[in-house]
Amino acid sequence: MATKLLYLESPALRDEAIVQEISPAEGQIVNIILDQTIFHCQGGGQQSDRGILLFKSQTSEKDVIFTVNKVSLEKDSGHVLHQGIFPDNILQNEREAIVIGTKCQMVVDKEERLRNSTLHTAGHVIDFLMILANTADNSFIDSPTMKPDGSGIDLRPIRGYHFPDSPYLEYAGLIPANKRAQFVQVMQKLADETTSKSIPVEITMRPFRDIPAEKKALLKGDHSDDEIVRVVGVGGYICGCGGTHLRDVNMIKKLTIRKVICKGVTTRVCYSAEPVELGDVPEDQICAGLSR
Ligand SMILES: [Zn+2]
Repeated sequence: MATKLLYLESPALRDEAIVQEISPAEGQIVNIILDQTIFHCQGGGQQSDRGILLFKSQTSEKDVIFTVNKVSLEKDSGHVLHQGIFPDNILQNEREAIVIGTKCQMVVDKEERLRNSTLHTAGHVIDFLMILANTADNSFIDSPTMKPDGSGIDLRPIRGYHFPDSPYLEYAGLIPANKRAQFVQVMQKLADETTSKSIPVEITMRPFRDIPAEKKALLKGDHSDDEIVRVVGVGGYICGCGGTHLRDVNMIKKLTIRKVICKGVTTRVCYSAEPVELGDVPEDQICAGLSR
C-alpha cells in the first residue's frame, strides 16, 4: 500500500502512524515505511524533513527514539522510506518489538521545517517577482523572440534548488549584460516590498477537471482529468507543487537577491532567505495547509 502523504494537506508536525515495513540498510541505518507520513519527502529541489519516530518502550517509561535523517519517496511503489538510526544502546528485545503493525508517534523537526519552507516559499516569491520585474516599464526582456545569445525570451522558470547551502532559481533565457546590476536592484526592491505584506499561500488539491480554466492554462505538463493536482498560489503566480510552504509570505523575514548569473541560455537567480523568529507561533501554524 502506498504511504499516504499527509504533509500535502496538513501543516501538522506531530501525528501517529503504523509501521508497514522495517528493514536494515547500510551499517546502522534502518529504513522504515509507514502507512502515512507528515515528513516531506526530498524532491522538487527541496531538502527532506528530519525528525524522530517515537515507539513505546517494552521496559521503561521512556519512548524508544528512531532518528529520521532522510525521507524519500519510491516513485513506483509510492512507499515513503524514513531512513535513520536507533540509539546505539537499544536493547535487543526493544528493537525486536518494532515490527509491521507497531504504532509510532512522528515528530518533524520544527526549526528545519521552518528553514526549508522559508527557502522553498521564497522560490515561489522569486518566480512571482520575475513576472513583476518584467512587466514593469523597465522590462529586462529585450524582445519576445530569442536572440542568438539566448537573451530576449520569457524567462520562464525551469529549475529550483532550495537547499540551505546555496539556493537558486533558473529561468530560460538571458538578461543582457548591461542590465544585470539594475535587474538585481529591481528584484531586491520588489522582494522587500512583497515580504513586508501579508500574502497568504493558497494550496488546493482537486481533480484536474475541477481546476478553473484560467488556472489550468498556467499549469505545466500534461494532466488527465481524474488526476489530483496540488496547486500552490503565491501572489499572482500559481504552479503545481509538492513542497512545504510558510502560511504567509510575511513570515519571510529577509529575502536577499544575492546575484544573477547568465550562462549558456539560462539565467540563475541566487538568493538567501531568513525566517521570522517563531516566538509563540504554534508549531502547526508554521506551514500552510489546504485552503478552505
Ligand atoms: Zn512549492
